[in-house]
Amino acid sequence: MFGDGNVYSLLKRAKRFLESKGLSEPESDVEVLLSFVLQTKRSKLPLMRSQKLTDIQVLQYERYILRRSKREPVAYIMGLAGFMDFEFKVNKNVLIPRPETEILVETALKIAKKENKNSVLDLCTGSGCIAVSLAKLGKFKDIMASDVSGSALEIARENARSNNVLDINFVKSNVFSGISGKNFDIIISNPPYVSHEEYDALEPELKYEPEIALAADDSGLFFYKKIAGKAGRYLNDNGFILIELNAYKAGEIKQIFSTCSYKNIEIVKDYAGLPRMLKAESNSL
Ligand code: GLN
Repeated sequence: MFGDGNVYSLLKRAKRFLESKGLSEPESDVEVLLSFVLQTKRSKLPLMRSQKLTDIQVLQYERYILRRSKREPVAYIMGLAGFMDFEFKVNKNVLIPRPETEILVETALKIAKKENKNSVLDLCTGSGCIAVSLAKLGKFKDIMASDVSGSALEIARENARSNNVLDINFVKSNVFSGISGKNFDIIISNPPYVSHEEYDALEPELKYEPEIALAADDSGLFFYKKIAGKAGRYLNDNGFILIELNAYKAGEIKQIFSTCSYKNIEIVKDYAGLPRMLKAESNSL
């Protein structure tokens, strides 16, 4: 497809090809994928413009570009995604970690340090990016991470191992159903929250992600109601809940949590100025 080529001409042809398939800004995709093939940093590419690739590398690159032309996300093509400066394996069984979700991790770390909190439960862990980052960056004594999907848990466990984290307790559980007799200082979650109508309108890239990780019943509110209703039973006194928000339903979600009598409910915005996280404290009754 791209003939024999040096870095410069391969990038140019791949970019033109993806543009012809309707991708609007393929520049970073073609560069990221080529540096992945060459196992080098993207920032090194400008210094390698005239370097020739081997036939095998060209073939591999063409396959990746073809996959990208069908709108498969770059992270799935590479099988890797970055989050909080760590690397996570991803495949079609888990959501690709989003930079916005780092706000949850950063907030949990701050709370743990300031309030001396030791235990955390990560619900709907998916790739495990939240739990593994907390284990790497915090000083928690007890980290549990759960997911309803066995294949997601497999990836999460692999990500813990590859990041040298050995002490996360992974549990297969439909939200709280498999968590018994435990009290946590912090419950953290990025649950599915896209309504089915919103899901239908998502761009093709997101349709590669597991629908079960994105879409939720009850106009996207199902998991907020479930977690708000039950988290109190799993939180210690003065425990915290941190949950990622569907940015368009922040008001409704806040309402759900105040009805369930949490206190100090705060909505935190992300770098794009969208409401991205709800933070609340359990009421000691
Ligand atoms: N924020 C994700 C998106 O980009 C959704 C993540 C989720 O449903 N938890 O659509």
